[in-house]
Amino acid sequence: MASPAAFARILRSRGPLSPPTGAIFSNSLPLSTPTPTCAAAAAAAATFGARRTPGSTHAMSTDAPAAADKGKKAARRVEGPADLSTVSPIRGLFYGSLASYERHCRPYPLSLSPDAATTLAEMVAPVEAWFKTVPSARIDEEHAIPDAVMDGMRELGLFGLQIPTELGGLGLSNTAYARMAEEFVMDPSLAVTLMAHQSIGLKGIIMYGTPEQKARYLPKLASGEQLAAFALTEPTTGSDAASVRLRADPTPDGKGFVLNGQKMWISNGGIARTYTVFARTPTATPGETKLTAFIVNRDESTGIVPGAPEKKLGIRGSNTCVVNFDNCFVPRENVLGEVNGGFKVAMGILNNGRFGMGAASAGGLRKLIGAYCVGGARLL
Ligand SMILES: Cc1cc2nc3c(=O)[nH]c(=O)nc-3n(C[C@H](O)[C@H](O)[C@H](O)COP(=O)(O)OP(=O)(O)OC[C@H]3O[C@@H](n4cnc5c(N)ncnc54)[C@H](O)[C@@H]3O)c2cc1C
Repeated sequence: MASPAAFARILRSRGPLSPPTGAIFSNSLPLSTPTPTCAAAAAAAATFGARRTPGSTHAMSTDAPAAADKGKKAARRVEGPADLSTVSPIRGLFYGSLASYERHCRPYPLSLSPDAATTLAEMVAPVEAWFKTVPSARIDEEHAIPDAVMDGMRELGLFGLQIPTELGGLGLSNTAYARMAEEFVMDPSLAVTLMAHQSIGLKGIIMYGTPEQKARYLPKLASGEQLAAFALTEPTTGSDAASVRLRADPTPDGKGFVLNGQKMWISNGGIARTYTVFARTPTATPGETKLTAFIVNRDESTGIVPGAPEKKLGIRGSNTCVVNFDNCFVPRENVLGEVNGGFKVAMGILNNGRFGMGAASAGGLRKLIGAYCVGGARLL
């Protein structure tokens, strides 16, 4: 171990540890300003002799030739997409850009115009009144939503809240959808059914679908004639979404894929007709597989076998079950996004859809406080 004096000499030879003023990765970079491209960042880092490069936390020598050499290496290392909204949100933050975070993680809220706010209030009022008529105790006891209640939600247009109007939906923004979610949480079983359908089940078709896919599936989903489900989780796949095992083998004629495997804990799994399913597909590298997202419809494909509904401790009227895929053929045109691009599709859907759950939870809490703390009474 070095003596204190030797240690001090080593420190002095390294120069100051904090970045010089103006270094591109100092906290002084205003987050709202246009972000420099990666190459520009690297050039600036080399010019300023910055102590840090993206992906590196090592202090760099102040020795000029060595710094220049390392600056060149840094320039090579940080070259990346010019549009930082396309990188992952966390990677974007390391580049000093919120563009990707805003795009993928914070789609809500957009402030409403006075007209839109009035229209929304007019839409919310009948929904709020209708939810007071829902037989929640019966739904909980019978572990099922009566047909009349499903019809009531269809009549209110609750299955197509964010589907574009030209495809039969109400075309609501995330802000307006969040406001509606505050209402339908009045019965959590209905909230899970509605949100599994549109926050995640059909969200991928809106976000990544081709015009043909949208026209084919969204009208029936908007009217509630069909329900949607999002099938990612498996017996060995939970938080680690990339570990999906369900296989999608390309057919020899190139016309599609054959799905084999099991998904579990799928909301609406037993009552949906249209599923967004994530499966492993082979890449050009022998032995390598990646995730691909598929639109799988029970009217078009055979071999989709839902299991019995799970008996849950809460949200008992919502349907949650295993879904087996047994030699289920899916045509190539039902690939959602790109072949082997399914992980991004899954994360995009979850990032965009999650806010609905937060809005519903906040709405439920607000109603509880309103119900039990009237007149400023204390909660506890
Ligand atoms: C009612 C219900 C409905 C559902 N609906 C759907 C659906 O519609 N579609 C669908 O695809 N899935 C659905 N799921 C599954 C749900 O998405 C998974 O439960 C979730 O992804 C977590 O996976 P897991 O339960 O396997 O937990 P695990 O991933 O095994 O996690 C268990 C615990 O470990 C923690 N943990 C995991 N990894 C790490 C780590 N790296 N570091 C630190 N902590 C970690 C987790 O936070 C958690 O507390 C549903 C589940 C339920 C209960």
